[in-house]
Amino acid sequence: MKEQGYAKARTMVEDKAAILSLLVLVVVVAVFRGEIREKAHYLFLLYFVILLVNRIDARYSIGAALILLLFTAVLLVQKKEAFANQVAIYAYYFLVVGVVLQLIEYIRHGGEEVAEVEGVSAATSIETGSEVKSVSMQSAGNMEAVVKTEAPPQPGAARPNDVGTRIIAIGSGKGGVGKTTIVSNLAVALSAIGKKVIAMDMDIAMPNLEIAMGVKSPPVGLVDVIKRRLKIDEVAFAGPHGVKVIPPGIILEGFTDKNVRRIRSILKRVPRADFLILDMPPGREAAKVLGKVHEVLLVVNPDAASVSDALNMKVIVEKRGAKILGVILNRVAGSGNELSIDRIEEALDLKVISMIPEDEKVKEAFSSETPVVSLYPESSSSKEFIKLAAKIASYGEES
Ligand code: ADP
Ligand code: MG
Repeated sequence: MKEQGYAKARTMVEDKAAILSLLVLVVVVAVFRGEIREKAHYLFLLYFVILLVNRIDARYSIGAALILLLFTAVLLVQKKEAFANQVAIYAYYFLVVGVVLQLIEYIRHGGEEVAEVEGVSAATSIETGSEVKSVSMQSAGNMEAVVKTEAPPQPGAARPNDVGTRIIAIGSGKGGVGKTTIVSNLAVALSAIGKKVIAMDMDIAMPNLEIAMGVKSPPVGLVDVIKRRLKIDEVAFAGPHGVKVIPPGIILEGFTDKNVRRIRSILKRVPRADFLILDMPPGREAAKVLGKVHEVLLVVNPDAASVSDALNMKVIVEKRGAKILGVILNRVAGSGNELSIDRIEEALDLKVISMIPEDEKVKEAFSSETPVVSLYPESSSSKEFIKLAAKIASYGEES
């Protein structure tokens, strides 16, 4: 409830923009006839700084400029030219504020995206060439029976977003490796040790986190926040163990640059929680939402294809500046033709921080629309999910 209150507060900040625009308008009109008219540009400077500090977007100022321009047109029709001139000046001020804000927003996110993503494609194709070969050549190892449990955490974990929430993206190169399973179970296991957790489904092509968590949600989600139809707390649904679940909704056009920019700004203002866990779709498009403040866990299965695809993902994620906490090796059955942990770590140059066994109970739990840690807390996979949650939480405490 606290987090909802917080989201409301953030929402009010956005609404404040509209109120501020109006207020400035009123002040401008009041100042209009007085001697302090010359000082109007200071007011606009103040207005600009307020918008900038509160990260309020440019559309309100541009909207105000358009209204004033319309007003100017009306005045011109009425042949009140002097008056029209003055109003036009204020329209110009609003326009300048709006355009500069938009420019700053672009420099903050837009430009950086184009440059980084282009860099990624080059790096990926170079690095994977050699690495893929080495993975497939090593692919006939025996899986070690026990995971090398206390692999030291990669440094630099826990960099919270603006509101103090650790954002952890669960990603993979390949689909079907177990991301959704891990998100739902990690979320519940973290919640069970007293953490406030939000799980967000970013997989717009195959959204199934809601099913995995048994959330009967109306067909709304992140997309409605992107399109500014709803606030983030209006699309956060109650899941098991107090976990909040945010479905993606139907995002027809996918991860366009505009949507990516919106998602990045939404992520900065999620309702306050200890963790926001992102169920990422495979592929590079969605990785564009990630940046320096985000942590990533890469999911692989013990086979060469998933590991070489994870390598692509690793390069993309690192280019974005996100921190990779390590690898989760899922669906380990212990059969002879699985890749060993050593080989996976060597191929990816990352630590395997968790090994989840192949477990029939996972599938059973999915059919019951309940995470396995809730339904069968004693199952072999549940024990690993619980250990993983403790490990992830401890990374945060260390740094
Ligand atoms: P992704 O989100 O990466 O596409 P899912 O989490 O949907 O993958 O998993 C794909 C399938 O694999 C699901 O049917 C799921 O039940 C099954 N699965 C995932 N992890 C395990 C596991 N450890 N043991 C058994 N089945 C698993
Ligand atoms: Mg999935």
